[in-house]
Amino acid sequence: MSECIFCRIAAGSLPARVVYQDDQAVAFEDVNPQAPVHLLVIPRKHIPNLLGVGEEDEALGGHLMRVACQVAREKGVAESGFRVVANINRDAGQSVDHLHLHVLGGRGLGWPPG
Ligand code: AMP
Repeated sequence: MSECIFCRIAAGSLPARVVYQDDQAVAFEDVNPQAPVHLLVIPRKHIPNLLGVGEEDEALGGHLMRVACQVAREKGVAESGFRVVANINRDAGQSVDHLHLHVLGGRGLGWPPG
């Protein structure tokens, strides 16, 4: 069994509040939400972060963005506005080394981000 917590969530061996899943992607609620809507969209394939997205993953990358928009619509924040964030490596605060898109919405989001 993988040690990666997001691989474990994708496999169903670690509980999560899953809001969407298909053969390529899983979306679930962030355990420490930073906004009223805070979802994570991950590929089932283990890719450490966006830097690891190869040419063979281009369709997967587009799919993850479509899923991010779909769950934002389903959570009712598409019209009011939302943000899709990928933290990459130390200075961005990446804490889980499995590619994930944060989907944040439900309140005004400051810019620039901290
Ligand atoms: P990042 O800091 O960009 O790597 O984001 C990782 C995110 O994963 C954080 O927002 C955490 O709150 C979230 N997280 C960590 N473990 C879990 C978990 N078991 N279920 C849901 N979200 C998690």
